[in-house]
Amino acid sequence: MNNTRRGLPLARARIEQIFPKLTPTQIRRITPHGRSRTTKRGEVLSEHGDIAASFFVVVSGELEILRPSGTVETLVTVHRSGQFTGEVGTLSGRRTMFRVRATKPGKVIELDRRHMLTLVQTDAELGEILMRAFILRRAELITAGVGDTVLIGSTYSADTLRIKEFLMRNGHPYSYIDLEHDPDVQNMLDSFRLAANEIPVVICRGQVVLRNPSKQEIADCLGFNESIDQTHVRDLVVIGAGPSGLAAAVYGASEGLDVLVLETGSPGGQAGSSSRIENYLGFPTGISGQELAARAYIQAQKFGAEILITKGTRLVCDVRPYVVEVENGARIPARTIAIATGAEYRKPRCENLSRLEGAGVYYAATFVEAQLCGGDEVIVVGGGNSAGQAAVFLAEAAKRVHMLVRSVGLAKTMSSYLIRRIEETPNIVVQPYTEIMGLQGGDHLESVVWRNNQMELTEEHKIRHVFLMTGADPNTGWLNGCLALDARSFIKTGQDLSPENLSAARWPLARQPFLLETSLPGVFAVGDVRGGSIKRVASAVGEGSIAISLVHKVLQE
Ligand SMILES: Cc1cc2nc3c(=O)[nH]c(=O)nc-3n(C[C@H](O)[C@H](O)[C@H](O)COP(=O)(O)OP(=O)(O)OC[C@H]3O[C@@H](n4cnc5c(N)ncnc54)[C@H](O)[C@@H]3O)c2cc1C
Repeated sequence: MNNTRRGLPLARARIEQIFPKLTPTQIRRITPHGRSRTTKRGEVLSEHGDIAASFFVVVSGELEILRPSGTVETLVTVHRSGQFTGEVGTLSGRRTMFRVRATKPGKVIELDRRHMLTLVQTDAELGEILMRAFILRRAELITAGVGDTVLIGSTYSADTLRIKEFLMRNGHPYSYIDLEHDPDVQNMLDSFRLAANEIPVVICRGQVVLRNPSKQEIADCLGFNESIDQTHVRDLVVIGAGPSGLAAAVYGASEGLDVLVLETGSPGGQAGSSSRIENYLGFPTGISGQELAARAYIQAQKFGAEILITKGTRLVCDVRPYVVEVENGARIPARTIAIATGAEYRKPRCENLSRLEGAGVYYAATFVEAQLCGGDEVIVVGGGNSAGQAAVFLAEAAKRVHMLVRSVGLAKTMSSYLIRRIEETPNIVVQPYTEIMGLQGGDHLESVVWRNNQMELTEEHKIRHVFLMTGADPNTGWLNGCLALDARSFIKTGQDLSPENLSAARWPLARQPFLLETSLPGVFAVGDVRGGSIKRVASAVGEGSIAISLVHKVLQE
């Protein structure tokens, strides 16, 4: 016998947008997309855990949305005449977290996922109402910590942070229990026979207990990938769901291509870790990288792109269609491919780094960052060209620029004009043999510990701005030697491919590679992973979008 507990703490603000009531005209427009059916009192229309659950519009009667946990059901909301079920998971087809039950005899229109996607893509007005409601509902669930997942962890554990970030980046609601702060935790651990050193623990769907799981294990347990067919040949497989990959997915899917995106687990890529992107067109007050990524992620799904949470481990290029092998062993066939795996900034190993990124720790020295540190002392880490440019630029605004270099001095590869400029700028101080050891601060960086390895001297300095200009490594290790790369292992495309590159790759076509096309026909590289890319969100988005028009050309060849 189920007990129903009433009332989740869902916000009552914006209630008309979260739970809108459709007009009779709007309902009439939905009817041809689905099937009308009657409901009986107590009838369960879809069950917690169902994959690709249907979408229901209530014509008459009532539907309860319940979150079951053991024998207890928590009532999330009740949909009445003119209202509809669903949230973001309904778009992606992932396992639903809720039970939908009729409370009285009535009538509903039922749409399966495919028809619901067609509806949101073809009816602009209804598409907007549904998408807004789905997104706001998911946001409410995340805020209220309502979901099918419990994370037990510790504020001081890096793995807890890793899992929190994974769930957050995938927009998956969860409740969090902190070992340090919650007195009931021990009871919880005892009931699952968990030792404290097995944290973080994820209890997924109230059943499966995962001890310090990998991202892939969580994705598998929550069924992120279950509704996705990994065997049929796709028009386009995009590897990486950063800004460039998501742009390729949105444009590709909206132009009718069958698109699958592979992502290791951090949708949004580097941009997703930026606390505020101020220079992206159309957002005059800035937008957090996470918000931008979340919107793009949902937009891609709205147009029918599917997103598989897994790592591309090997490109197989001696077969047609191409094959991308992934972590779980599946082999995904693709007519065309967009590689959007980005790059990772080389980072010193020190505590608090990820927490202070964007809050005193920067990877770019543009006008925006320079404004933040006007009149202050700053640190630039690195001895190469990008570090030199940053130091000279920042010296105009900063009181003093400390250039921390690990070796005896500036890199031999640094341009001589930059070396001269650094030498001639009195407020740039080169600190040789020096490395960053620690970063301290709350909401913002407050002090930095550095060590001079030659003098074996460790010092703490009250400096609030650090620019890490130690270069970025492209995520190209998995390409299996299939593509021509430049000296720094970024992917060469278009006119950058020399005749030697093309002959080594046995380029088979009479035409030259298109812009953004690699040394393999139909395989494109977009965003930061591409040699010579600009390393900005806008350029990554631009390249992902441009690639689609070229994908169409290749598919017609
Ligand atoms: C802290 C920070 C702040 C920034 N701020 C700004 C800013 O304010 N303005 C601006 O214009 N730019 C900014 N940038 C730069 C900008 O974020 C990047 O230029 C942009 O994100 C590049 O997009 P991308 O899609 O090419 O690659 P990425 O963002 O690097 O995304 C690559 C994606 O591919 C995935 N991936 C990698 N390997 C695999 C694999 N084998 N299989 C599956 N998936 C894989 C990764 O998980 C990742 O999600 C910032 C960067 C950082 C790090």
